[in-house]
Amino acid sequence: MASKHSKKSAPVQTVKTVASQETEVAKSAVTTAVDNCDCSNESDLFKPTVEQFKQSIVNHLRRTIGTSEKKASNLAWWQAVVYAVNELVFERLTQTQATHAGNDTRAVNYLSAEFLMGRLTVNNLCNLEVYNTCKDALASLGVDINAICDEEPDMALGNGGLGRLAACYIDSLATLKYPSIGYGLHYENGLFRQEIRGGRQVERPDSWREYGCPWEVCRPESVQEIPVGGYVEDQVAPDGTIHKVWHPDHIIKAVPWDIPVVGFRGSSVTVLRLWESRANEQFNWDVFNAGGYVDAQEEKAASETISKVLYPNDSTEAGKMLRLTQQYFFCAASLRDILRRYNRAHHHDYSAFASKIAIQLNDTHPAIAVAELMRLLLDEEGLNWDSAWKIVTDVFAYTNHTLLPEALEKWPVYLFERLLPRHLEIIYEINARFLDGEVARKWPNDNGMRAKLSIIEEGPCRMVRMAHLSVIASRRVNGVAEIHSQLVREQLFPEFAQIWPDRFCNVTNGVTPRRWLLACNPGLAELYNEVSGKDWPLHLDSCAKMRPFADKPDFQKRFMDVKYKNKVALAAEIKKLCGVEVDPHAIFDVQVKRLHEYKRQHLNLLYILHLYRELLSDPTKTIVPQVFIFGAKAAPAYTLAKDIIYAINKIGERINNDHRIRNQLKVVFIPNYRVSLAEKIIPAADVSEQISTAGYEASGTSNMKFAMNGALTLGTMDGANIEIVAEAGEENNFIFGLSVQEVQDLKAKGYNPWDFYNSDADLKAVLDWLDTDYFTPGQPGALSSIKRSLLDHGDPFLVLADFASYRDAHKRVEELYKDKERWARAAIINSASMGKFSSDRSIEDYVHNIWSLKSYDVNNK
Ligand SMILES: *Cc1c(COP(=O)(O)O)cnc(C)c1O
Repeated sequence: MASKHSKKSAPVQTVKTVASQETEVAKSAVTTAVDNCDCSNESDLFKPTVEQFKQSIVNHLRRTIGTSEKKASNLAWWQAVVYAVNELVFERLTQTQATHAGNDTRAVNYLSAEFLMGRLTVNNLCNLEVYNTCKDALASLGVDINAICDEEPDMALGNGGLGRLAACYIDSLATLKYPSIGYGLHYENGLFRQEIRGGRQVERPDSWREYGCPWEVCRPESVQEIPVGGYVEDQVAPDGTIHKVWHPDHIIKAVPWDIPVVGFRGSSVTVLRLWESRANEQFNWDVFNAGGYVDAQEEKAASETISKVLYPNDSTEAGKMLRLTQQYFFCAASLRDILRRYNRAHHHDYSAFASKIAIQLNDTHPAIAVAELMRLLLDEEGLNWDSAWKIVTDVFAYTNHTLLPEALEKWPVYLFERLLPRHLEIIYEINARFLDGEVARKWPNDNGMRAKLSIIEEGPCRMVRMAHLSVIASRRVNGVAEIHSQLVREQLFPEFAQIWPDRFCNVTNGVTPRRWLLACNPGLAELYNEVSGKDWPLHLDSCAKMRPFADKPDFQKRFMDVKYKNKVALAAEIKKLCGVEVDPHAIFDVQVKRLHEYKRQHLNLLYILHLYRELLSDPTKTIVPQVFIFGAKAAPAYTLAKDIIYAINKIGERINNDHRIRNQLKVVFIPNYRVSLAEKIIPAADVSEQISTAGYEASGTSNMKFAMNGALTLGTMDGANIEIVAEAGEENNFIFGLSVQEVQDLKAKGYNPWDFYNSDADLKAVLDWLDTDYFTPGQPGALSSIKRSLLDHGDPFLVLADFASYRDAHKRVEELYKDKERWARAAIINSASMGKFSSDRSIEDYVHNIWSLKSYDVNNK
């Protein structure tokens, strides 16, 4: 698209003198950190002048989009900007790929069913160091960059943390110049758009590319054909050997869409390749000619359904045929793509395969890739079992993301038989060799152990355990925070860890500081430019240079001024989105994440009720004003989660309109929480609520984003919270609640929530309130399901057990907030201590402990 006009718009050749002129332009216009990063001399990347960039935008507006400056909508302006940026990105992409091809590099292939990319415009402008250039170019055309960047739909091809992690990792891989590619699904509909009607969540379709996505490029030359269904035939060769021949009954076309992801300062470009399913027209044509027009149309609809929609479940398994088809579809397409590229240089000699290729499984969603690679090597490339298995076990590594039993993927054997008969045979063979090999050697004649470790779970409905398949086939299995990795090793897979002690490791999650600090919080980024120098987005450890300033009153004031401005901006957004007036001087206490019982939004809500009750019981009582801010989507079938959303909204409505409490307490639920909203909310937070039941949150990543942006963590000793407070100091945060060990002990002893209900009058009053119609006039009992889950249903996540400790922690928050200096000091220390949680550090861990990659400087021509 861009190439057609690139000669006439901004020239893309490297012209050093132009780049250095741009340096002067940028320097004279320094206002924000984002602008500041325009003028580094770190890279030899071509950077257009303001005038050139303006010309490029105008050319694309007129010639690519076919409109004019006078008529153009904000959407058209945004598209034109994207095309102008893409000229720079594609140039760098070509250079990156030439560098890698020239060196026959080893690469990682990151397989993930989800990539929660969010918006790309501001990020790409920042990473290419042309944000300021673009802003000035647009300003000279009378266009506001913020208004047009707000036109971009989020790419919401993920549910939450797992998908956002994949997105941060692609950013770091590109920045650190590691040969890499991300593979996933090109969902036509991403995570649903959430509307709130009458306080309840309503799910609306998210058609993020209804009007086309200008970032993505279709690559017809890399289309793949994916077989499904049918049966397996044993063919006896003349020499007596048996060959397995799979006769599928459908062929689905896999169409790749590439989204280039540019690293910081354009260091390199990594591609995210997303597969779209299409009907195989040739196949269809045959059905059509056989007189089956309607059949052909049905066939087409079924094939195209595969990439239609993202399953909206976070941490619960769907177990549906369509979901298994999605997983197989994108893995099969990706593996063919990997083999095709490998064979370009190696001509079906697989001896170097494992030295050139690493494949990372982001959770078990892509685990079927193990069986598919075996099938390709055995049936299509003619390798024997041992050589193929050696390759597979050298290539794969698996990241576990959860211990929740309801999230561990299992597929009924009968679904496998219908969809993937040959893969099921291969899984049986892998299983037999494992049980008769490693298991029999370690536990001879132990049928209990065989049943426990088998890939197949026996029972009325036999199931394939995808986690077992992943562990058996991977050279490394990692958890995502220290505590989680320990639980994976000791409690989830203890026998596997006995067989292969060296296979298990930890890689603590991280987030990209480019998006989660530089781009979303320009005010704070500017302070870091001053104290840490301009390379902090590449070396987040250097943020520690801000720590000595934590005690300086004038610096504290500047830091908190940035926070205050961010709060003013968020208050305006809240007014716009929720119609609620909030005071930026109040504590902004934020809990934004998927709605789940283990994340305990209802614990937060019980505290809010407690606080409200205190205020009502003493009309003269004065507290530090507090705004409780929520954002969360619930899985559409998760009734209790949706009831909690309803409760937050109804309780908020009542509190926000109660004049007796003199605006000291506000509760807002911001609808449709997503990446672009997170970028507005997180920089404005004072308190970061990370209150999961200890042992249940594998890592968390929003905890890192918040701390980077100077929020104090109010949290349990769970997931990465433990490592965050180890870096930033427990004294600078608010830790409460049972530890992992205490949770397990209490559960083992027999937890009875009624004990807490009966012995804490305050807690009892708050829970009983939910049974009245105080918050839902005329509808008593509308909020009772929450109380029932906490008492009648046994409170599985120990909300009541942690309530008192949580209440105390909140009182400590209020006390500290009254002391402006001490609060500022803690906020600064938190932000300055987050070096460890850059996704660059995570990627370096993967590279050194799992992938063994080399980075390559991208040649400029
Ligand atoms: C970071 C992020 C998450 C993960 O949040 P947790 O609190 O770690 O569960 C989920 N959704 C979005 C939009 C995010 O940006």
